[in-house]
Amino acid sequence: MTNITGSCSCCSIKYQITGPVQKVVNCHCDHCKKMNGSAISTYVAVLDHDFIITQGEVKQFAISEKASKYFCGDCGTPLFNEYIKHSGLKMLHLGGLDSINDLTPSMNLYSESQIAWIDDVSSIPSLKQKKDSESATDCSNPRLTWSDLALS
Ligand SMILES: [Zn+2]
Ligand SMILES: [Zn+2]
Repeated sequence: MTNITGSCSCCSIKYQITGPVQKVVNCHCDHCKKMNGSAISTYVAVLDHDFIITQGEVKQFAISEKASKYFCGDCGTPLFNEYIKHSGLKMLHLGGLDSINDLTPSMNLYSESQIAWIDDVSSIPSLKQKKDSESATDCSNPRLTWSDLALS
């Protein structure tokens, strides 16, 4: 039993992983680039029965007859994918989990499609921009919404 939790960025969807993580992988395929809008997709694979949505309702979109993506209909955060090829598994987006530092990918998939500069990321000039007062999404605290910001 694990207690790994995650959410979308607006906190309307929350989930929990209740069993062991099967694998953490980076996918470099063009399909994932397109459907996630990202240069690289890092997934945390868990068994279907080790995953529960604890709050909210996810939206589904069938990318093809082989793959579906699940996301928050309010904020659009992609949460996980399902593939016919990997039936019985949910491929959770690493970034949606509340604690990700202990999860290290053990494999690169479709490396023939890897973008050339990925290997050199650590040599690109880097800026640290996070101030001490900032933190990532914390769903345990109430958040400001656009209506809170509306002028009366
Ligand atoms: Zn959301
Ligand atoms: Zn892929």
